[in-house]
Amino acid sequence: MLDLAIIGGGPAGLTAGLYATRGGLENVVMYEKGMPGGAITQSSEVENYPGIKEVVSGMDLMASWPEQCMRFGLKHEMAEVVRVSRPEGLCFKVELSDGSVETAKSVIVCTGGTPRKAGFKGEEEFFGRGVSTCATCDGFFYRDKEVAVIGGGDTALEEALYLANICSKVYVVHRRDEFRAAPSTVKRARENGKIEFVTNVLVEEVYGDAMGVQGIRLKKKDSGEVIDLPVPGVFVFVGYDVNNRVLKQEDGSFLCDVNEYGEVVVDLQMRTSEQGLFAAGDIRIMAPKQVVCAAGDGANAAIGAIAYVEHLHRENLC
Ligand code: FAD
Ligand code: NAP
Repeated sequence: MLDLAIIGGGPAGLTAGLYATRGGLENVVMYEKGMPGGAITQSSEVENYPGIKEVVSGMDLMASWPEQCMRFGLKHEMAEVVRVSRPEGLCFKVELSDGSVETAKSVIVCTGGTPRKAGFKGEEEFFGRGVSTCATCDGFFYRDKEVAVIGGGDTALEEALYLANICSKVYVVHRRDEFRAAPSTVKRARENGKIEFVTNVLVEEVYGDAMGVQGIRLKKKDSGEVIDLPVPGVFVFVGYDVNNRVLKQEDGSFLCDVNEYGEVVVDLQMRTSEQGLFAAGDIRIMAPKQVVCAAGDGANAAIGAIAYVEHLHRENLC
Protein backbone atom coordinates (compact mmCIF):
# COMPACT_ATOMS: atom_id res chain seq x y z
CA MET A 1 0.00 0.00 0.00
CA LEU A 2 1.22 3.49 -0.84
CA ASP A 3 1.75 6.08 1.87
CA LEU A 4 0.69 8.71 -0.63
CA ALA A 5 -0.69 8.76 -4.16
CA ILE A 6 -0.34 12.05 -6.03
CA ILE A 7 -2.61 12.45 -9.04
CA GLY A 8 -1.19 14.83 -11.66
CA GLY A 9 2.39 15.84 -12.37
CA GLY A 10 2.19 19.60 -12.92
CA PRO A 11 3.78 22.18 -10.59
CA ALA A 12 1.41 21.21 -7.75
CA GLY A 13 1.95 17.44 -8.06
CA LEU A 14 5.71 17.67 -8.50
CA THR A 15 6.13 19.98 -5.52
CA ALA A 16 3.90 17.74 -3.43
CA GLY A 17 6.15 14.83 -4.43
CA LEU A 18 9.28 16.74 -3.49
CA TYR A 19 8.03 17.76 -0.06
CA ALA A 20 6.43 14.39 0.73
CA THR A 21 9.51 12.31 -0.07
CA ARG A 22 12.02 14.77 1.36
CA GLY A 23 9.78 14.97 4.44
CA GLY A 24 10.08 11.26 5.10
CA LEU A 25 7.22 9.48 3.32
CA GLU A 26 8.72 6.44 1.67
CA ASN A 27 6.21 4.97 -0.64
CA VAL A 28 5.00 7.84 -2.79
CA VAL A 29 3.83 7.52 -6.40
CA MET A 30 2.91 10.42 -8.68
CA TYR A 31 0.49 9.35 -11.42
CA GLU A 32 0.82 11.56 -14.50
CA LYS A 33 -0.84 10.57 -17.74
CA GLY A 34 1.69 12.47 -19.87
CA MET A 35 5.14 13.86 -19.32
CA PRO A 36 5.52 15.64 -15.97
CA GLY A 37 5.43 19.43 -16.14
CA GLY A 38 1.76 20.30 -16.48
CA ALA A 39 -0.05 23.08 -18.30
CA ILE A 40 2.81 25.56 -18.12
CA THR A 41 4.79 23.49 -20.63
CA GLN A 42 2.43 24.92 -23.29
CA SER A 43 3.79 28.41 -22.62
CA SER A 44 6.64 29.84 -24.68
CA GLU A 45 7.35 32.73 -22.31
CA VAL A 46 7.26 32.71 -18.52
CA GLU A 47 8.68 35.69 -16.67
CA ASN A 48 6.86 35.64 -13.33
CA TYR A 49 8.31 32.62 -11.56
CA PRO A 50 10.29 34.03 -8.62
CA GLY A 51 14.04 33.61 -8.82
CA ILE A 52 14.13 33.07 -12.58
CA LYS A 53 15.38 36.38 -13.99
CA GLU A 54 15.29 35.45 -17.67
CA VAL A 55 12.18 34.93 -19.77
CA VAL A 56 12.03 31.14 -20.14
CA SER A 57 9.72 28.71 -21.89
CA GLY A 58 7.43 26.62 -19.71
CA MET A 59 9.32 23.51 -20.88
CA ASP A 60 12.62 24.96 -19.69
CA LEU A 61 11.11 26.14 -16.41
CA MET A 62 9.84 22.64 -15.59
CA ALA A 63 12.72 20.60 -17.04
CA SER A 64 14.60 20.06 -13.77
CA TRP A 65 11.60 19.58 -11.46
CA PRO A 66 11.07 15.81 -12.01
CA GLU A 67 14.75 15.00 -11.51
CA GLN A 68 14.84 16.98 -8.27
CA CYS A 69 11.86 15.00 -6.92
CA MET A 70 13.15 11.60 -8.06
CA ARG A 71 16.39 12.29 -6.13
CA PHE A 72 14.39 12.01 -2.90
CA GLY A 73 12.54 8.87 -3.93
CA LEU A 74 9.40 10.01 -5.72
CA LYS A 75 8.20 7.41 -8.20
CA HIS A 76 6.50 8.54 -11.39
CA GLU A 77 4.01 6.24 -13.05
CA MET A 78 2.88 7.32 -16.49
CA ALA A 79 -0.74 6.36 -16.10
CA GLU A 80 -4.17 7.92 -16.15
CA VAL A 81 -6.18 7.70 -12.96
CA VAL A 82 -9.88 7.19 -13.61
CA ARG A 83 -11.19 7.28 -10.05
CA VAL A 84 -10.20 7.76 -6.43
CA SER A 85 -12.64 6.29 -3.92
CA ARG A 86 -12.79 5.07 -0.34
CA PRO A 87 -15.01 2.00 -0.45
CA GLU A 88 -14.31 0.77 3.06
CA GLY A 89 -12.11 1.64 6.02
CA LEU A 90 -9.46 4.31 5.83
CA CYS A 91 -7.70 3.29 2.62
CA PHE A 92 -8.17 5.06 -0.67
CA LYS A 93 -8.59 3.04 -3.83
CA VAL A 94 -6.85 4.46 -6.91
CA GLU A 95 -8.17 3.01 -10.18
CA LEU A 96 -6.10 3.34 -13.34
CA SER A 97 -7.33 3.38 -16.94
CA ASP A 98 -5.68 0.00 -17.66
CA GLY A 99 -7.96 -1.59 -15.03
CA SER A 100 -5.32 -1.95 -12.33
CA VAL A 101 -5.95 -0.77 -8.77
CA GLU A 102 -3.62 0.60 -6.09
CA THR A 103 -4.39 1.43 -2.47
CA ALA A 104 -3.07 4.46 -0.61
CA LYS A 105 -3.19 5.86 2.89
CA SER A 106 -3.48 9.42 1.63
CA VAL A 107 -4.07 11.12 -1.72
CA ILE A 108 -3.27 14.56 -3.14
CA VAL A 109 -5.28 15.47 -6.25
CA CYS A 110 -3.49 17.95 -8.54
CA THR A 111 -5.18 17.44 -11.90
CA GLY A 112 -5.57 21.13 -12.80
CA GLY A 113 -8.16 22.47 -15.18
CA THR A 114 -8.67 23.29 -18.85
CA PRO A 115 -9.79 26.64 -20.31
CA ARG A 116 -12.47 26.11 -22.99
CA LYS A 117 -11.75 27.01 -26.60
CA ALA A 118 -14.09 29.36 -28.46
CA GLY A 119 -13.56 27.54 -31.75
CA PHE A 120 -12.73 30.41 -34.13
CA LYS A 121 -10.23 30.24 -36.99
CA GLY A 122 -6.67 30.94 -35.84
CA GLU A 123 -7.35 30.16 -32.17
CA GLU A 124 -5.20 27.01 -32.16
CA GLU A 125 -2.64 28.31 -34.64
CA PHE A 126 -1.87 31.44 -32.62
CA PHE A 127 -2.28 29.96 -29.13
CA GLY A 128 0.75 31.14 -27.16
CA ARG A 129 1.68 33.56 -29.95
CA GLY A 130 -0.93 36.24 -29.28
CA VAL A 131 -3.92 34.15 -28.24
CA SER A 132 -3.95 33.56 -24.49
CA THR A 133 -6.25 32.28 -21.77
CA CYS A 134 -4.38 33.91 -18.89
CA ALA A 135 -4.26 37.67 -18.27
CA THR A 136 -2.05 37.37 -15.17
CA CYS A 137 0.46 35.34 -17.19
CA ASP A 138 0.51 37.26 -20.46
CA GLY A 139 -1.05 40.69 -19.87
CA PHE A 140 2.31 42.33 -19.24
CA PHE A 141 3.51 41.35 -22.73
CA TYR A 142 0.89 43.82 -24.05
CA ARG A 143 1.78 46.75 -21.82
CA ASP A 144 0.57 50.00 -23.45
CA LYS A 145 -0.86 48.03 -26.38
CA GLU A 146 -4.44 47.26 -27.41
CA VAL A 147 -5.94 43.84 -26.76
CA ALA A 148 -9.27 42.06 -27.23
CA VAL A 149 -11.05 39.92 -24.63
CA ILE A 150 -13.57 37.34 -25.86
CA GLY A 151 -16.48 36.41 -23.60
CA GLY A 152 -19.24 37.94 -21.52
CA GLY A 153 -18.96 36.05 -18.23
CA ASP A 154 -17.43 37.10 -14.91
CA THR A 155 -14.00 35.87 -15.91
CA ALA A 156 -13.94 37.87 -19.17
CA LEU A 157 -15.10 41.08 -17.51
CA GLU A 158 -12.83 40.73 -14.46
CA GLU A 159 -9.84 39.94 -16.64
CA ALA A 160 -10.70 42.88 -18.92
CA LEU A 161 -10.55 45.14 -15.85
CA TYR A 162 -7.19 43.60 -14.90
CA LEU A 163 -5.84 44.13 -18.42
CA ALA A 164 -7.07 47.74 -18.46
CA ASN A 165 -4.49 48.45 -15.73
CA ILE A 166 -1.70 47.38 -18.09
CA CYS A 167 -2.88 47.87 -21.68
CA SER A 168 -3.74 51.08 -23.53
CA LYS A 169 -7.15 49.74 -24.57
CA VAL A 170 -9.23 46.61 -24.05
CA TYR A 171 -12.01 45.60 -26.43
CA VAL A 172 -14.55 43.31 -24.79
CA VAL A 173 -15.89 41.20 -27.64
CA HIS A 174 -19.13 39.37 -26.88
CA ARG A 175 -21.61 37.46 -29.03
CA ARG A 176 -24.67 38.95 -27.28
CA ASP A 177 -25.81 42.31 -25.87
CA GLU A 178 -26.44 40.83 -22.46
CA PHE A 179 -23.81 39.57 -20.08
CA ARG A 180 -23.62 36.60 -17.76
CA ALA A 181 -21.19 38.57 -15.59
CA ALA A 182 -22.51 40.19 -12.40
CA PRO A 183 -24.18 43.54 -13.19
CA SER A 184 -21.79 45.33 -10.81
CA THR A 185 -18.79 43.98 -12.74
CA VAL A 186 -20.33 44.98 -16.09
CA LYS A 187 -20.94 48.47 -14.65
CA ARG A 188 -17.32 48.80 -13.49
CA ALA A 189 -16.12 47.75 -16.94
CA ARG A 190 -18.48 50.19 -18.68
CA GLU A 191 -17.20 52.99 -16.46
CA ASN A 192 -13.57 52.17 -17.25
CA GLY A 193 -12.32 54.61 -19.89
CA LYS A 194 -9.92 52.05 -21.38
CA ILE A 195 -12.58 49.40 -22.05
CA GLU A 196 -14.72 49.44 -25.19
CA PHE A 197 -17.56 46.96 -25.69
CA VAL A 198 -18.05 45.32 -29.08
CA THR A 199 -21.21 43.25 -28.75
CA ASN A 200 -23.52 41.16 -30.91
CA VAL A 201 -20.58 39.97 -32.96
CA LEU A 202 -19.15 36.62 -33.96
CA VAL A 203 -15.42 36.06 -34.16
CA GLU A 204 -14.57 35.27 -37.79
CA GLU A 205 -10.85 34.77 -37.28
CA VAL A 206 -7.68 35.79 -35.56
CA TYR A 207 -5.02 36.51 -38.14
CA GLY A 208 -1.30 37.15 -38.11
CA ASP A 209 2.04 35.97 -39.41
CA ALA A 210 5.10 34.11 -38.20
CA MET A 211 5.66 36.79 -35.53
CA GLY A 212 2.21 36.28 -34.02
CA VAL A 213 -1.25 37.82 -33.95
CA GLN A 214 -1.90 41.00 -35.93
CA GLY A 215 -5.62 41.36 -35.44
CA ILE A 216 -9.08 39.92 -35.06
CA ARG A 217 -11.93 39.99 -37.56
CA LEU A 218 -15.50 40.12 -36.27
CA LYS A 219 -18.89 40.00 -37.97
CA LYS A 220 -21.95 41.90 -36.73
CA LYS A 221 -24.73 39.36 -36.19
CA ASP A 222 -27.54 41.61 -37.46
CA SER A 223 -25.98 43.49 -40.42
CA GLY A 224 -23.12 41.17 -41.40
CA GLU A 225 -20.78 44.16 -41.22
CA VAL A 226 -17.15 43.12 -40.74
CA ILE A 227 -15.16 44.80 -37.97
CA ASP A 228 -11.39 44.61 -37.95
CA LEU A 229 -9.50 45.20 -34.70
CA PRO A 230 -5.74 45.37 -35.34
CA VAL A 231 -4.69 44.06 -31.89
CA PRO A 232 -1.58 41.97 -31.15
CA GLY A 233 -3.23 40.14 -28.21
CA VAL A 234 -6.50 38.21 -27.93
CA PHE A 235 -7.59 36.81 -24.56
CA VAL A 236 -10.21 34.07 -24.63
CA PHE A 237 -12.41 33.57 -21.53
CA VAL A 238 -15.34 31.44 -22.60
CA GLY A 239 -15.48 29.05 -19.64
CA TYR A 240 -13.21 26.70 -17.72
CA ASP A 241 -13.42 22.96 -17.02
CA VAL A 242 -12.00 21.80 -13.70
CA ASN A 243 -10.36 18.37 -14.11
CA ASN A 244 -12.24 16.81 -11.19
CA ARG A 245 -13.35 13.62 -12.94
CA VAL A 246 -11.15 11.38 -10.77
CA LEU A 247 -13.19 12.38 -7.73
CA LYS A 248 -16.51 11.43 -9.29
CA GLN A 249 -17.99 8.27 -7.73
CA GLU A 250 -20.06 5.61 -9.46
CA ASP A 251 -23.29 7.18 -8.17
CA GLY A 252 -22.33 10.59 -9.62
CA SER A 253 -21.46 12.19 -6.28
CA PHE A 254 -17.99 13.55 -5.52
CA LEU A 255 -15.66 11.96 -2.97
CA CYS A 256 -15.30 15.35 -1.25
CA ASP A 257 -17.04 18.72 -1.31
CA VAL A 258 -16.80 20.69 -4.55
CA ASN A 259 -18.36 24.11 -5.20
CA GLU A 260 -20.91 24.99 -7.89
CA TYR A 261 -18.11 25.28 -10.49
CA GLY A 262 -16.67 21.86 -9.63
CA GLU A 263 -13.64 23.30 -7.83
CA VAL A 264 -12.51 21.26 -4.82
CA VAL A 265 -13.22 22.94 -1.50
CA VAL A 266 -10.08 23.05 0.65
CA ASP A 267 -8.94 24.80 3.81
CA LEU A 268 -5.70 26.75 4.16
CA GLN A 269 -3.79 23.44 4.53
CA MET A 270 -5.29 22.09 1.29
CA ARG A 271 -7.39 19.57 3.27
CA THR A 272 -10.63 18.54 1.61
CA SER A 273 -13.79 17.49 3.44
CA GLU A 274 -12.51 13.87 3.29
CA GLN A 275 -9.80 13.11 5.88
CA GLY A 276 -6.51 12.17 4.24
CA LEU A 277 -7.55 13.59 0.87
CA PHE A 278 -5.91 16.85 -0.23
CA ALA A 279 -6.24 19.00 -3.35
CA ALA A 280 -3.65 21.42 -4.69
CA GLY A 281 -3.19 23.81 -7.60
CA ASP A 282 -5.67 24.92 -10.25
CA ILE A 283 -8.26 22.33 -9.18
CA ARG A 284 -9.00 24.01 -5.85
CA ILE A 285 -11.36 26.85 -4.97
CA MET A 286 -10.07 30.37 -5.49
CA ALA A 287 -6.93 29.17 -7.26
CA PRO A 288 -4.93 32.10 -8.68
CA LYS A 289 -3.92 29.73 -11.51
CA GLN A 290 -0.23 30.48 -11.35
CA VAL A 291 2.75 28.14 -11.18
CA VAL A 292 4.09 29.67 -7.99
CA CYS A 293 0.72 29.25 -6.25
CA ALA A 294 0.27 25.66 -7.48
CA ALA A 295 3.75 24.81 -6.20
CA GLY A 296 2.96 26.42 -2.84
CA ASP A 297 -0.26 24.43 -2.61
CA GLY A 298 1.63 21.21 -3.39
CA ALA A 299 4.11 21.83 -0.58
CA ASN A 300 1.30 22.69 1.81
CA ALA A 301 -0.69 19.57 0.92
CA ALA A 302 2.35 17.32 1.29
CA ILE A 303 3.08 18.67 4.77
CA GLY A 304 -0.54 17.87 5.65
CA ALA A 305 -0.28 14.38 4.15
CA ILE A 306 2.88 13.61 6.15
CA ALA A 307 1.12 14.62 9.38
CA TYR A 308 -1.94 12.56 8.46
CA VAL A 309 0.06 9.39 7.67
CA GLU A 310 2.08 9.83 10.88
CA HIS A 311 -1.20 10.03 12.80
CA LEU A 312 -2.41 6.78 11.19
CA HIS A 313 0.83 5.04 12.16
CA ARG A 314 0.84 6.44 15.71
CA GLU A 315 -2.71 5.28 16.33
CA ASN A 316 -2.06 1.93 14.60
CA LEU A 317 -4.91 2.66 12.23
CA CYS A 318 -3.21 1.44 9.09
P1 FAD B 1 -1.50 21.47 -14.23
O1 FAD B 1 -0.26 22.18 -14.54
O2 FAD B 1 -2.68 21.64 -15.11
O3 FAD B 1 -1.12 19.92 -14.12
C1 FAD B 1 -2.10 18.94 -14.01
C2 FAD B 1 -1.50 17.64 -14.50
O4 FAD B 1 -2.39 16.57 -14.17
C3 FAD B 1 -1.33 17.60 -16.02
O5 FAD B 1 0.02 17.35 -16.32
C4 FAD B 1 -2.25 16.48 -16.48
O6 FAD B 1 -1.70 15.71 -17.55
C5 FAD B 1 -2.37 15.64 -15.22
N1 FAD B 1 -3.64 14.89 -15.14
C6 FAD B 1 -4.89 15.39 -15.26
N2 FAD B 1 -5.81 14.42 -15.08
C7 FAD B 1 -5.09 13.28 -14.83
C8 FAD B 1 -5.48 11.94 -14.55
N3 FAD B 1 -6.77 11.59 -14.51
N4 FAD B 1 -4.51 11.02 -14.34
C9 FAD B 1 -3.20 11.38 -14.40
N5 FAD B 1 -2.77 12.64 -14.66
C10 FAD B 1 -3.71 13.57 -14.86
N6 FAD B 1 1.29 30.43 -14.79
C11 FAD B 1 2.25 31.30 -14.34
O7 FAD B 1 2.53 31.36 -13.15
N7 FAD B 1 2.94 32.09 -15.22
C12 FAD B 1 2.73 32.05 -16.57
O8 FAD B 1 3.34 32.79 -17.33
C13 FAD B 1 1.75 31.13 -17.05
N8 FAD B 1 1.51 31.02 -18.37
C14 FAD B 1 0.64 30.07 -18.81
C15 FAD B 1 0.52 29.89 -20.19
C16 FAD B 1 -0.29 28.89 -20.68
C17 FAD B 1 -0.38 28.69 -22.18
C18 FAD B 1 -1.04 28.07 -19.77
C19 FAD B 1 -1.93 26.96 -20.31
C20 FAD B 1 -0.94 28.26 -18.41
C21 FAD B 1 -0.09 29.26 -17.91
N9 FAD B 1 0.07 29.46 -16.55
C22 FAD B 1 1.03 30.33 -16.10
C23 FAD B 1 -0.76 28.75 -15.56
C24 FAD B 1 -0.04 27.53 -14.98
O9 FAD B 1 0.37 26.71 -16.04
C25 FAD B 1 -0.98 26.78 -14.05
O10 FAD B 1 -1.49 27.64 -13.06
C26 FAD B 1 -0.25 25.61 -13.37
O11 FAD B 1 0.33 24.77 -14.33
C27 FAD B 1 -1.20 24.81 -12.50
O12 FAD B 1 -0.53 23.72 -11.98
P2 FAD B 1 -1.29 22.38 -11.49
O13 FAD B 1 -0.22 21.46 -11.05
O14 FAD B 1 -2.36 22.75 -10.56
O15 FAD B 1 -2.03 21.82 -12.77
P1 NAP C 1 -19.26 31.59 -18.22
O1 NAP C 1 -20.00 32.29 -17.14
O2 NAP C 1 -19.77 30.30 -18.71
O3 NAP C 1 -19.20 32.62 -19.44
C1 NAP C 1 -18.64 32.24 -20.64
C2 NAP C 1 -18.85 33.37 -21.62
O4 NAP C 1 -18.23 33.01 -22.85
C3 NAP C 1 -20.33 33.64 -21.91
O5 NAP C 1 -20.54 35.02 -22.00
C4 NAP C 1 -20.54 32.96 -23.25
O6 NAP C 1 -21.49 33.62 -24.06
C5 NAP C 1 -19.19 33.09 -23.89
N1 NAP C 1 -18.90 32.00 -24.81
C6 NAP C 1 -19.02 30.68 -24.58
N2 NAP C 1 -18.65 29.97 -25.65
C7 NAP C 1 -18.29 30.88 -26.59
C8 NAP C 1 -17.82 30.77 -27.91
N3 NAP C 1 -17.61 29.58 -28.49
N4 NAP C 1 -17.55 31.90 -28.61
C9 NAP C 1 -17.74 33.12 -28.04
N5 NAP C 1 -18.18 33.29 -26.78
C10 NAP C 1 -18.46 32.18 -26.05
O7 NAP C 1 -17.71 31.33 -17.84
P2 NAP C 1 -16.73 32.13 -16.84
O8 NAP C 1 -16.79 33.58 -17.08
O9 NAP C 1 -15.41 31.44 -16.95
O10 NAP C 1 -17.36 31.83 -15.43
C11 NAP C 1 -17.54 30.47 -15.00
C12 NAP C 1 -18.28 30.49 -13.66
O11 NAP C 1 -17.40 31.05 -12.69
C13 NAP C 1 -19.52 31.37 -13.72
O12 NAP C 1 -20.54 30.79 -12.97
C14 NAP C 1 -19.06 32.68 -13.08
O13 NAP C 1 -20.08 33.39 -12.45
C15 NAP C 1 -18.03 32.17 -12.09
N6 NAP C 1 -17.05 33.20 -11.79
C16 NAP C 1 -17.33 34.00 -10.73
C17 NAP C 1 -16.45 35.02 -10.43
C18 NAP C 1 -16.79 35.88 -9.26
O14 NAP C 1 -17.79 35.64 -8.63
N7 NAP C 1 -16.01 36.90 -8.94
C19 NAP C 1 -15.30 35.24 -11.18
C20 NAP C 1 -15.06 34.41 -12.28
C21 NAP C 1 -15.97 33.38 -12.58
P3 NAP C 1 -23.07 33.53 -23.75
O15 NAP C 1 -23.27 34.41 -22.55
O16 NAP C 1 -23.69 34.07 -24.99
O17 NAP C 1 -23.37 32.09 -23.51
